[in-house]
Amino acid sequence: MTLAAITERLRVAEALAGRDAGSVTLIAVSKVQTEERVRAVLDQGQRIFGENRVQEAQGRWPVLQQDYAGVSLHLIGPLQTNKARAAVEMFDAIHSVDRLKLAQTLARLAQERGHCPQLFVQVNTGAESQKAGVLPEDADQMIAQMRGLDLPVVGAMCIPPFDEDPAPHFRTLAGIAARNGLAGLSMGMSDDFELAVALGATHIRVGSAIFGTRGG
Ligand SMILES: *Cc1c(COP(=O)(O)O)cnc(C)c1O
Repeated sequence: MTLAAITERLRVAEALAGRDAGSVTLIAVSKVQTEERVRAVLDQGQRIFGENRVQEAQGRWPVLQQDYAGVSLHLIGPLQTNKARAAVEMFDAIHSVDRLKLAQTLARLAQERGHCPQLFVQVNTGAESQKAGVLPEDADQMIAQMRGLDLPVVGAMCIPPFDEDPAPHFRTLAGIAARNGLAGLSMGMSDDFELAVALGATHIRVGSAIFGTRGG
């Protein structure tokens, strides 16, 4: 697959869902990809990228951002509190806010800086013990707490269990966003982004379908 092919599939999915062309944000997930592959996708015009580790992003993006204007970076992986400062300096959006302590740290940094990345609450829709995110039943409270901290909470994010039909998980997330008045829905990856768009995704996170298999 290429970026153009994925963009075309996204346009079709938007049209089938009765949504405007370009209304869904395509985040190209560049984690673990070689710089050469990332540059190739930048050369094709993509400017929105997702990384799952702060350190990896710090290692490559400052240089790439000098060569390519207008890049915006989304953190999609777990964020340790001690990396929060680096994360707010580097990322335009953080999709993995999964606990109150992290929200409190982000709030303090936001106060200090007078600016904060856009935040998504990560919801562990499958209640998987190894996966980050608040449980669905705790999401409303977490969103309220983040709002109480004056944080710019714009949406909800999920990573459905690997071996299950993602549709019920996407629906759960859409329900949480709707009842909390959140416009953003970060859901859908290489194998299921069209379904996610049909169920309301506003941000899809696509890695291997654009870049090829990681490390391949
Ligand atoms: C790696 C990753 C993706 C992209 O996965 P693909 O299957 O390669 O598209 C999306 N979201 C998160 C949180 C990821 O860690």
